Amino acid sequence: MSKTSEIRVRIAPSPTGDPHVGTAYVALFNFAFARKNKGKFILRIEDTDRARSTRKSEDEILAALKWLGLDWDEGPDVGGPNGPYRQSERSHIYKSYAQKLVDNGAAYKCICTGERLAELRKRQQILKQPTGYDGHCRKQNPQIIEQAIQEGTPFVVRLKTPLEGQMHMQDALRGEIVINCTEVDDQVLVKSDGFPTYHLANVIDDHLMGITHVIRGEEWISSLPKHILLYEALGFEKPQFCHLPLLRNADKSKVSKRKNPVSLHYFKEAGYLPDAMLNFLGLMAYSSQENEIFSLTEFVENFDLQKIVLGGPVFDVKKLLWLNGRYLRELRSEDQIVTYLQEQLFSSEYLSKIVPMVKERVEKSEDFIEYADFFFKADVAVAKEHYLIGELEAKSSALVIEQTLEVLENLKEFSSESISGALKNFLKEQSMPAKNLFMPLRMMVSGKKASPPLFDTMAVLGKERCRTRLRAAINALKK
Ligand code: GLU
Repeated sequence: MSKTSEIRVRIAPSPTGDPHVGTAYVALFNFAFARKNKGKFILRIEDTDRARSTRKSEDEILAALKWLGLDWDEGPDVGGPNGPYRQSERSHIYKSYAQKLVDNGAAYKCICTGERLAELRKRQQILKQPTGYDGHCRKQNPQIIEQAIQEGTPFVVRLKTPLEGQMHMQDALRGEIVINCTEVDDQVLVKSDGFPTYHLANVIDDHLMGITHVIRGEEWISSLPKHILLYEALGFEKPQFCHLPLLRNADKSKVSKRKNPVSLHYFKEAGYLPDAMLNFLGLMAYSSQENEIFSLTEFVENFDLQKIVLGGPVFDVKKLLWLNGRYLRELRSEDQIVTYLQEQLFSSEYLSKIVPMVKERVEKSEDFIEYADFFFKADVAVAKEHYLIGELEAKSSALVIEQTLEVLENLKEFSSESISGALKNFLKEQSMPAKNLFMPLRMMVSGKKASPPLFDTMAVLGKERCRTRLRAAINALKK
């Protein structure tokens, strides 16, 4: 544990998907706070969700943050004195703390079955009660529970939350937050597979890694009471908490891939510049700087946590585009743009994926442009009649495309084979002829009736761009 007075902050992404703009936003504010105060910025991977975490996602998150120029002082790739920095490698650490919590009465073992919990939830929903654990095992004789566990009954460990009263918590931006204890659930701390949940691992790691300020998104405020209880039960000194306002769409809903692209991957591939993206994210919580252009160094120099304005910062892609245009025109030389285009849009890596798909159909090099333009374009929209599924009218077609998108979303790997397998399966389930779906799908992703093989095309375009194009088609059909 670091026992110095230096400022230590962290980001703790869960590697369960594409690198998200929200992660970059929180990373930027932590980075700036650390650099401004000559402290340390740590990257910790929270991969306690074994079913959803992947190394690929972790690698992509790290690569995306590096692309933005946000480097960290300690992390899974660079090491450091408080490692390992991946929670899946720290299981042994959490076990002893969980035992300590049970021993000192701050937590208890629970042997309720999944069926009982599902039943309970259903009952609570019917009665319009808040859903949550009813404390069944908390009221049992611990010896009886221990006996069942000895006999092989699976169990979880739950936090014993106060049954009455209020909790008072401090947030750097909001001041005091008060919550009724009845609203705090007896949170699972250790799952039946022996792995800790986010809450337990997060508190232990923040303590062991000497984190002085927890700066994270506002969506974690509801977890704060549980975290405070854990800090107190474990006798840990509490860090300061600062919950950043959530990025929102223009309609004030939370940013999500259902409305706009949110993957840093997408923005990189679509030609957004890392410094423009950082500038844009920096503007998010600082309303006084509306249209300012600033470098990362300037952002750090002027950084002040207290200047952050609450209220939903709007992740306005149009504004990002405007800012990006200014960066491109004003802050890049023509030589730099040439290099950028060669490395980004026309990289050998990207072209070598496209050429094998296209070469059979072209006679001269210019034909590549004609035939493969949609690999280099943002928008490929055509008249919405081309998106109709078989004989279905517009609204029902939109519904089928929604379902198709859902199928694609669930793919862990976005390869030609996996896309083909999943979509053919979907067709079978729907008893739908292939051409009803594949023809309009081809129009959506390429804007053309004849394109290279559909699944190869989709794999090269990538999930994000396919999602954006399918969403555009859905929106067009719903109009
Ligand atoms: N693993 C959490 C996430 O995915 C971290 C939340 C926190 O910073 O405490 O965002």
